[in-house]
Amino acid sequence: MTDDRITGKTRLAAVIGNPVEHSISPQLHNTLSRYMGTDLAYIPVKVEKEMLDTAVQGFCAMGFVGVNVTIPHKKEIVSFVDRVSDEAQLVGAVNTIKICRHGIEGYNTDGEGFVRSFREDTGSSFGNKTVVILGAGGAARSIAFSVVREGAANVIILNRTLSKAEQLCTAVSKVTGAALKPVAACSAERKDVIGTCDIVINTTPVGMYPDTENMPVDVDMAFSSSQTVYDIIYNPPRTRLLQKAENCGCMTANGLGMLVYQGIAAYEIWMDIIVPGQICTRLYDDLKKYMLNKGF
Ligand code: NAP
Repeated sequence: MTDDRITGKTRLAAVIGNPVEHSISPQLHNTLSRYMGTDLAYIPVKVEKEMLDTAVQGFCAMGFVGVNVTIPHKKEIVSFVDRVSDEAQLVGAVNTIKICRHGIEGYNTDGEGFVRSFREDTGSSFGNKTVVILGAGGAARSIAFSVVREGAANVIILNRTLSKAEQLCTAVSKVTGAALKPVAACSAERKDVIGTCDIVINTTPVGMYPDTENMPVDVDMAFSSSQTVYDIIYNPPRTRLLQKAENCGCMTANGLGMLVYQGIAAYEIWMDIIVPGQICTRLYDDLKKYMLNKGF
């Protein structure tokens, strides 16, 4: 039987990064296109740093609808974009480009993906809560802006390098007016800060495959059952941090939902549509099963 899924009419999209071999964005987007009845094929493309400019020109020349951008290109891509969304401007990074007739638009959907997933996976919100974000990198930046916007009462950035936590707090304060608190991950107050907040969000790669034996908090850290712990890592699905939090009776969630919803948000931007809720849920369930079947 011939395979006629891709024809001359099929629209194209991609994810670029380095590495991209383990990305599950192709499964996510190709499944989503099937559910939406859209004739779109999505491919992973490994792009070296020095070839980013050429790659972007190539996608434009070949009429790609859009491209997701991942590590290490999220910051550099900004200089190849004609218009940057307010969110991407704030975050200083672009994870989605839309290729239009009048130029390239840059967006950042990580914050939206995180908030949608947090709400759905924990059934909770940030209003009047005290939130500790572990890490002060790119993902922490998106999440810090979102959490403040979502009404958190106190936000603490706890990071290995204190100066980076300070810079992030200043950047978010400058835009939102909120007073964030930077704390060094090695400081004496770290346990107290983590142990007494409402929500802990890990944005460091500590605990991610293959570093699965490590945790971004002290091994003897005790949580209380009223706390919510969200780890943006999704491989493994239950990091040691999440296992510990579960054992303490906390509400927990991993980063698969963030990945799914940032992808859905990108797709909505490219297609100028809203993906119906039941398709989002179905897609998310499929991705959970996919991860399980692949032995993650
Ligand atoms: P990044 O910009 O490189 O930031 C990494 C942060 O983690 C920095 O604050 C860094 O601290 C800290 N860190 C790194 N290694 C550490 C260690 N061994 N001990 C303590 N702290 C450490 O990275 P990113 O883009 O924010 O991504 C971070 C993680 O989030 C990655 O695992 C990535 O895969 C994941 N992520 C998931 C999603 C999703 O959709 N689920 C989306 C984006 C990112 P210093 O400042 O001291 O260097």
